[in-house]
Amino acid sequence: MTSVVNCPTCGKKVVWEPQAKFRPFCSERCKQIDMGAWAAEKYTIPAESPEDPSQESPLDPTQR
Ligand SMILES: [Zn+2]
Repeated sequence: MTSVVNCPTCGKKVVWEPQAKFRPFCSERCKQIDMGAWAAEKYTIPAESPEDPSQESPLDPTQR
């Protein structure tokens, strides 16, 4: 029985078999890309609002 999955990176069909060592990715490259994206996301610190004393909150409810 053979299953086919789609590569999460490029969407290419990947036959899920022991030889497909990069599954669910189609290639090492796609695997690396995905890992890289994951790492990049991890490193992205959601900086709320950098301290900017010259600018008050633009969504100040007292403004209207
Ligand atoms: Zn791929």
